[in-house]
Amino acid sequence: RKYRKTIIAGNWKMHKTATETKRFAERLKGALPRSKRCSIVLCVPYVDIPAAVKLLKDSRVAVGAQNLHWEASGPFTGEISAAMLADLDVKYVIIGHSERRAHFGESDLIINKKIHAALAAGLRPILCVGEDLAQRQLGVTLEFITYQLKAALAGVSPEAMRRVVIAYEPIWAIGTGNTATPEQAGEVCAAIRGVLRKLYGARIARSTTIQYGGSMNETNAEALLHQEDVDGGLIGTAALDPEKFLQIIQTAN
Ligand code: PEP
Repeated sequence: RKYRKTIIAGNWKMHKTATETKRFAERLKGALPRSKRCSIVLCVPYVDIPAAVKLLKDSRVAVGAQNLHWEASGPFTGEISAAMLADLDVKYVIIGHSERRAHFGESDLIINKKIHAALAAGLRPILCVGEDLAQRQLGVTLEFITYQLKAALAGVSPEAMRRVVIAYEPIWAIGTGNTATPEQAGEVCAAIRGVLRKLYGARIARSTTIQYGGSMNETNAEALLHQEDVDGGLIGTAALDPEKFLQIIQTAN
C-alpha cells in the first residue's frame, strides 16, 4: 500500500436517472468518512454526469464515465468524445468493460484507441481485463490477461502509464454474485503487476493501482482488499445503493 493509491470506483452501468443521481450524491456526500486514505470514483451514465459533478464538486468523490469514442470529433452519431468528458470535469473513464466487449463488439484494437484518446484528453482510464469461465477452467487465465494488457496498452508511454488504472474483472464474477476468492483475485492482480513490470519496469508496476471487480460488496470487500496486490475495487451492483457503497468506502479507508 505504500506505493500506490487504493481506488474505490462505482460503475452504475445503465442505471439511475439524473434525478436519482442527485439523491444518491447528496446522501453519499453527507456521509463520507473524513480520512482520505482511498480515492473514490463514481462512473455514471453520460446524461448523469452534470448532476454528479455539480453535487460532488467539493467532495472527495471524482466523477467518471463508462465509455468514450476514440476520435476527437466527427460524423459519429450518438457518440461522446474524451474532450467532451474532460470539459465537464470528468476525471476517469472505464475502458474495455466486458459488457462493452461482449455486447458492443469492442475489440482489443478499439480498446487500445480508446485508452490513447482518454490519456490524450487528460482522463485517467480504468482499463478492464478478465477471463471468462471457460478460459479459467482451461487454465489459460494468465496468458489471456497478459494478451489483453499488451494489446490495450500498446504504444502507451511510461509517463502516460502513471495515469492508467487496471481493473481485474473475471467475467464469471460480474453481476453473478460469484465473487472470486481473495486468493484468486490476489493471484491474478499479482500476475498483472508482473506483466506491468516487464512492460514498464518495477517502479511503474509497483505504483499502478490494480482493482478487483466482480460481485464485490460490503461483506466481502475487506478480505479482497486485504490482498497485497488488490488496490481497490470496481463495483457494480453494490454501488447502486449508497449505504452499501459507503460501507465499502469505510472498509478501504
Ligand atoms: C462491474 O460491472 O464492473 C462489476 C464488477 O459489477 P458487479 O459488482 O455487479 O459484479
